[in-house]
Parts: sequence; structure tokens; C-alpha cells
Amino acid sequence: MSSTDEREQSGCPKCSHTETTVDEISTTGGGLSKMFDIQNRSFKVVSCANCGYSELYKGRSSGDIVDIFLG
Ligand SMILES: [Zn+2]
Repeated sequence: MSSTDEREQSGCPKCSHTETTVDEISTTGGGLSKMFDIQNRSFKVVSCANCGYSELYKGRSSGDIVDIFLG
């Protein structure tokens, strides 16, 4: 009855929870909306849905950073 499929080291670095939320922060202050600028000046924040621990990433896709966050 025991399922041991889960990798024990994946999950939030602090509490091992595996549910995350992703927010995006843009640091573009001006009125320009060039895609390259937005791409280069935006950060994504992955937060643990359980304890709120967050990490900030730059220039990566949401899927990548969730993988990195969960380890
Ligand atoms: Zn956590």
C-alpha cells in the first residue's frame, strides 16, 4: 500500500511542499514596450503555497523556475 515513487528531495527548500505560485515582476519604468526590454527586465517569483518562501528568477520560463525551485 505504500507508494514510494516521490523523490524525497523535491519540493520547497524550506518545507518540502510541492505547490507553488508564480508571479512576474516587471522593472520597466518607461513607456517603451519593446518585447526585448520586457524580457530582459522582468523577474519571476516562485513562492511556496504553504510557507510563502520565495525565490526570484530572471530570464527563465515559468516551467523552468518551478522545476528549479522544487529541486
Ligand atoms: Zn514551503
